Amino acid sequence: MNLKRQLGLDILSEKYAYATDPEFGYVSAQKIPDRWVPTTCGYCSVGCGMFLGVKDGRAVSVRGNPDHPVNLGKLCPKGLSEHYTLEAPNRAKYPLLRKKGKLVRVEWEEAIATMVERFRAVQEKYGADSLGVVSTGQLVTEEFYTLGKLVQLGFGTKNFDGNTTLCMASAVSGYKRSFGSDGPPGAYEDLRKADVILLIGANIADNHPILCQHLEANAGKTLIVADPRVTKTAMMADLFLPLKPRSDIALLNGIMHILIRAGAIDRDYIARHTRGFDELEKSLEKYTPAYASQITGLSEDLILKTASLYGQAKAAFIGWTMGVNHSSKGAETVNAINNLALITGQIGRAGASPFSITGQCNAMGTREAGFTSSLPGYRKFEIAGDREELAKLWKVPVERIPVSRGLAYPDIVEAAVAKHIRALWIIATNPIVSFPNLDVLKQGLETLDFLVVQDGFYPTPTSELAHLVLPAAIWGEKEGTYTNSERRVSKVNRAVAPPEEAKPDFDIFLELAKKLGRYEELFPGWSTPADDFDEWKRVSAGRLCDYSGMSYELLEQHGGVQWPYPADGRSAATQAPLVTRLYEDGHFPTEDGRAKLLCIEWEPFPEQPNQEFPFILNTGRTVEHWHTRTKTGQVPILERMSPNAWLEMNPKDAVGLGLKPHDKVTLVSRRGRVPDLELRITEIIAPGQVFMPFHFVETNANQVTQSAFDPISREPNYKQCAVKVERGGK
Ligand code: SF4
Repeated sequence: MNLKRQLGLDILSEKYAYATDPEFGYVSAQKIPDRWVPTTCGYCSVGCGMFLGVKDGRAVSVRGNPDHPVNLGKLCPKGLSEHYTLEAPNRAKYPLLRKKGKLVRVEWEEAIATMVERFRAVQEKYGADSLGVVSTGQLVTEEFYTLGKLVQLGFGTKNFDGNTTLCMASAVSGYKRSFGSDGPPGAYEDLRKADVILLIGANIADNHPILCQHLEANAGKTLIVADPRVTKTAMMADLFLPLKPRSDIALLNGIMHILIRAGAIDRDYIARHTRGFDELEKSLEKYTPAYASQITGLSEDLILKTASLYGQAKAAFIGWTMGVNHSSKGAETVNAINNLALITGQIGRAGASPFSITGQCNAMGTREAGFTSSLPGYRKFEIAGDREELAKLWKVPVERIPVSRGLAYPDIVEAAVAKHIRALWIIATNPIVSFPNLDVLKQGLETLDFLVVQDGFYPTPTSELAHLVLPAAIWGEKEGTYTNSERRVSKVNRAVAPPEEAKPDFDIFLELAKKLGRYEELFPGWSTPADDFDEWKRVSAGRLCDYSGMSYELLEQHGGVQWPYPADGRSAATQAPLVTRLYEDGHFPTEDGRAKLLCIEWEPFPEQPNQEFPFILNTGRTVEHWHTRTKTGQVPILERMSPNAWLEMNPKDAVGLGLKPHDKVTLVSRRGRVPDLELRITEIIAPGQVFMPFHFVETNANQVTQSAFDPISREPNYKQCAVKVERGGK
């Protein structure tokens, strides 16, 4: 502090001056921009429309777009402070290459040449599939599409997946198994139109806060929330179902059992649009109210009441997120949800949908542009016609299109541990914090011959292990599109330049293609995301996720447009986009056009508590933070609101252990320890369970989580493992 300041003569009047802004009124002069750039929030999949305020080439403020159909001007705390992420002190600015054990600054040319050279050397020695790529839900769709072509046709490996497998893979697999394709059938408008809304494992008040305004706008609804924890969303419910961890399949089967017995199902819809009902009915015989009650811990009356409300609804909506997906039975739980919607005909109508609420801002874009769990445009690896169509569009021999998907993210890690994957490219994700069972992951990353981390931030816990770091532009610094949970494609715009030498991921991918000698073949003449968007429109034409009628101008004009939006179905110039729903005609993209009813059995979760590890750990999120805090940890207002992880414990358990509020405790499982957690004693959590947020590297929940994955989707079972709690922070 200088002398004038110490003497109180300098009151920092420039810094703290106020002025009048036409939008905000009387505000800090520093926050009044020269111009507002329309864009879409880069955190979660709600997909809020916003304006980013720019002054003298710097992002200084954010405001919600009042005309955007998703958020009508509102933003949550993360969105409202998002501009701070652009100038965070941990932004990655220069390419860094490890030389003599240290990461040192190099020119882009050397970075790209080294990456191509090292990847090629590994592939020549160990085979093409010894290279793995783990991407993210944070890129724009144009980048996913470019990356997919580059990885699989350029580098020639099919071991390509994304961190979306850690959050949405079960929803994808569940939709594909029931309906023949991925794609959430409903729209946010359904939250306003349903008369019964059942949320299962979805704490939207913390994780998708702006969706709550659609709920609040629906005065006639009955909101039912099923969750083992009394979350903020549970507190909004008309009926709360505090079910035991991982008993949701028994609840859903119990509801179906009751509805079938009561004749409260839609036999006409079942007969015309589904198959497998007789087998399903038989499999549900044992899920009597008494049996469902025994498994879920809910009273029979509560289960009967839930079934009655759902069965009598004119339009019923089921929404879910990680409480369902983060499970080794996630995909099958999604099938049970779909079964319930199908046998009651609660799909394809206003207010009626089984609806997965996605995680990241563009997790949906990865699903559409594909090359991980499916080929672009939801084409299937195993269908020859799909591969031939794609090869024709790309003018490449069909033999170059993979016939099966490569390794999923957890299997890439296991292959790295087994030394089958020898080089890895990690893009915009931070597995050292986000991947389960940290010790196994570290083992995998530390044994690699070459690890590239491409990220907008440096250092991150993951980049500490890298041989090469590529600095990337982030939201606010690049152009493209995001798709939100309701299939709405929204425009993302560049408002400011990336710091120093950081570049958009799109530009990095094109440079790699040039170095590989594949640019002209794969991306002829491309220089901007718009070039990619044009091709993507052609590749998606005629598919479920049809973009062919869209243009960047149309997206800007309407605050996003939902797919399908075919070129021949609508006049982009004259018709305002309507709310679209999938399967309105009851026709599904399966071999026979019918949705599949699948028999799903409840099973206990893999690691049950015992005398030594008596608690069931539940993990989750808090409204202030995003994933591994790479971004939100640098936003002062968010970090101050939620600076540390904590452990929630029921008062009865705390009495038993002689613990009091704010005690420091250590969480212990068979795999590791999380020290230094602040204890919160609260009835939000039931006896026998504990909860902690997973955002914090300093107190990393993944020290104790397990390597248990859904056998269908490969999504991790983050939600339940057996732990004990020890007094003391060390
Ligand atoms: S709800 Fe999601 S999309 Fe909307 S402002 Fe918050 S983080 Fe951004």
